[in-house]
Amino acid sequence: MRMRKKKHQERRIAACGDWLVAQPQALCGTWKQPNQRLYLEIGCGKGAFAVESAKAQPLAQFVAVERSQNVLVLALERAKEEQARNLRFIGCDAAELGGAFAENEVDGIFLNFSDPWLPRRYHKRRLTHPRMLALYKSILRPGGEVHVKTDNAALFEFSACALEECGFEITFLSLDLHASGQPNIMTEYESKFASTETKILKLVAKVKK
Ligand code: SAH
Repeated sequence: MRMRKKKHQERRIAACGDWLVAQPQALCGTWKQPNQRLYLEIGCGKGAFAVESAKAQPLAQFVAVERSQNVLVLALERAKEEQARNLRFIGCDAAELGGAFAENEVDGIFLNFSDPWLPRRYHKRRLTHPRMLALYKSILRPGGEVHVKTDNAALFEFSACALEECGFEITFLSLDLHASGQPNIMTEYESKFASTETKILKLVAKVKK
């Protein structure tokens, strides 16, 4: 990225400082009040899902993680624009989240249209790879849920198998979410498919512990 563009982006991010958590590990164990729910979205992109979810559940706390600064800036600006006070952002790779959340602190994790990483040698980068599921399992409370939405059948099947192998129980599965009548908050990526034949796949898995 050219220097001037980078500086410009840094200024835009700084202007949304209230929504960005620079040192997430410092908030470990303190993200919510005792009776609140805490939901995490990993790979939030431009933030439509996180902002709409936070507005729909104003009593819950939401944290959205995004590693690409180019889209994180748009998500931050959207949250600021909407004054979503129960939503904060972490700008890092999900693999660096260790120590940011305490054991049992999180009620639910949303993975929406995660990068499929199709070649086998890249499967370990998937957000539903057993390495990541071990992290989710430790920070989720007993009965806490992972929600996966994707248009990619290979990633979906991999995720369902990995979740079952890693101590999660699948409690909901749809091979055509938009026809299922289930309540649904659309993501940016998902809305591109709304008028096409592409079916949206969704599962919910509950952690057994
Ligand atoms: N959830 C959004 C974006 C989907 S694209 C939507 O549905 O519209 C996937 C997003 O996840 C990209 O923005 C990418 O930068 C982000 N991402 C992929 N791997 C990640 C990781 N390991 N940690 C954090 N973000 C990640």
